[in-house]
Amino acid sequence: MPSETAAKCPLCGKPRAKEYRPFCSRGCRDRDLNQWFDEGYRMPAHEGPDGGTDDDRFGGD
Ligand SMILES: [Zn+2]
Repeated sequence: MPSETAAKCPLCGKPRAKEYRPFCSRGCRDRDLNQWFDEGYRMPAHEGPDGGTDDDRFGGD
């Protein structure tokens, strides 16, 4: 079994393109970027809905 799953776009599941990895196209890459920007604008003061990588805030400085 080849590990094809490692080479798929995380957004749409299509084969990713080397140029836009880990995404398949600029469209998917932009979509992901927009998500980051959106979160950045919100600047969550409390815990985020994800609550996964809070360690960054404590171990930062
Ligand atoms: Zn994609």
